[in-house]
Amino acid sequence: MPRVIVDQNKCIGCGTCIKVCPAGVYKIVQGKAHVVNPDACLVCRACITHCPVNAITLGPREYEPIRRLYE
Ligand code: SF4
Ligand code: SF4
Repeated sequence: MPRVIVDQNKCIGCGTCIKVCPAGVYKIVQGKAHVVNPDACLVCRACITHCPVNAITLGPREYEPIRRLYE
């Protein structure tokens, strides 16, 4: 399960996530951003903040500890 997930229906292939990601997680393939290096993700959230169409979300693995805190 990748830490970051790109909604392929929302992504417009602007490349912003690639520019702001410090870990080389993304690559544009056929005009859309794809997670090609999920294990490198630092969960800095820069891509999520900068994506103009809110196409990026964190995968369930990252929410798990937060969810447990509130259960
Ligand atoms: S910043 Fe958002 S819209 Fe732009 S390429 Fe990345 S995922 Fe797609
Ligand atoms: S959260 Fe940070 S390290 Fe992870 S993919 Fe987004 S910009 Fe890259």
